[in-house]
Amino acid sequence: MTNHAILSASASHRWLNCPPSVRLTEDIPDETSEFALEGTDAHELCAYLVENALGRNARDPTENLVFYNDEMQECAEEYCNYVIEQVEKAKGYSRDPTVLVEQRLDFSKWVPEGFGTGDCIIVADGLLQVIDYKHGLGVLVDADHNPQMMCYALGALEMFDGLYDFDKVTMTIFQPRKHNISTFEIEKTELLEWAENVLAPKAELAFKGEGEMQSGKHCQFCKLKNVCRKRAEDNLALAQMEFANPATLDNEDIAEILPKLDLLISWANDIKAYALNQATDGHPIPGYKLVEGRSVRKFSDESAVSQIMIEAGFDPYEKKLLTITAMTKLVGKKTFNDLLGGLIIKPSGKPTLVPIGDSRQEMNLAKNEFKED
Ligand code: SF4
Repeated sequence: MTNHAILSASASHRWLNCPPSVRLTEDIPDETSEFALEGTDAHELCAYLVENALGRNARDPTENLVFYNDEMQECAEEYCNYVIEQVEKAKGYSRDPTVLVEQRLDFSKWVPEGFGTGDCIIVADGLLQVIDYKHGLGVLVDADHNPQMMCYALGALEMFDGLYDFDKVTMTIFQPRKHNISTFEIEKTELLEWAENVLAPKAELAFKGEGEMQSGKHCQFCKLKNVCRKRAEDNLALAQMEFANPATLDNEDIAEILPKLDLLISWANDIKAYALNQATDGHPIPGYKLVEGRSVRKFSDESAVSQIMIEAGFDPYEKKLLTITAMTKLVGKKTFNDLLGGLIIKPSGKPTLVPIGDSRQEMNLAKNEFKED
């Protein structure tokens, strides 16, 4: 049994959009990032806390966790409390719900050799819930029609359909560092239809290395992203848009350009970072050379500086109030809320331009409110 599926659930968003990317990248070694390792540690701690809270025998992994810190402990406890709350709710469905932690889920009925690990599965008559913990701080993950969660849900369905009676599946992403708990509920029939009509055909193409390459947001997680010709062509095509008025752009033109910029910028940044890496690795880019960037002066020995200034009669330190995060860390959430809860305000954020379909409420600029007649 391997630990890595060719068509993994976590990469499903990519291979559903660009099936050939699977075979095109299979020989490129994975780069393990510190973030990924930190996530693995957090998952281990989460699993332990839940097993422990359920009264099961589990080994405390803390002493072996390289990235363990107070924040990780707090996040894992929040997750554990959430899971236990859900288990209690499930008891309203049937007295003794099944709770599986770090469960291998097999969805190979639709995806060749497809399997993954579900962080927590709760099942009772009338309820099948799949919970996934995300330790990442980068992207806010939404459960709504999230293909990774839907693959896990299919694996869970394979295990329990027939043993329990339910017609809906609930999927939850628990992402404490982004204050995000995202839940999505789907009818079993809709999930199975998606599996038959979308997932399975795309998975088959991906497994065979066939289908159409398609670039998009999903390229961000593709090992080919820096050197993919299709991604380059699509982005260069975006940059060659044609407009009616040759001299200036009007707001209609800008409206056409705006939604394309994020992809273009992310591609351009990837290319720049890749080119720099190539050059520093000894593979020069024709027409370019490496030079030293701007640098700023700094003290070579801070404690010597401090000592000299104190002896000379000066105070070399400035006193600053801790940030909200550091203060919360110092005293713990509860004491922080008791002592300072009433002194927290949230000033309005700077105007941000987003597409009209964004769920946030539109700002009222009230431009003329104070205008004199
Ligand atoms: S970079 Fe994008 S378009 Fe290219 S193979 Fe990867 S997912 Fe497909």
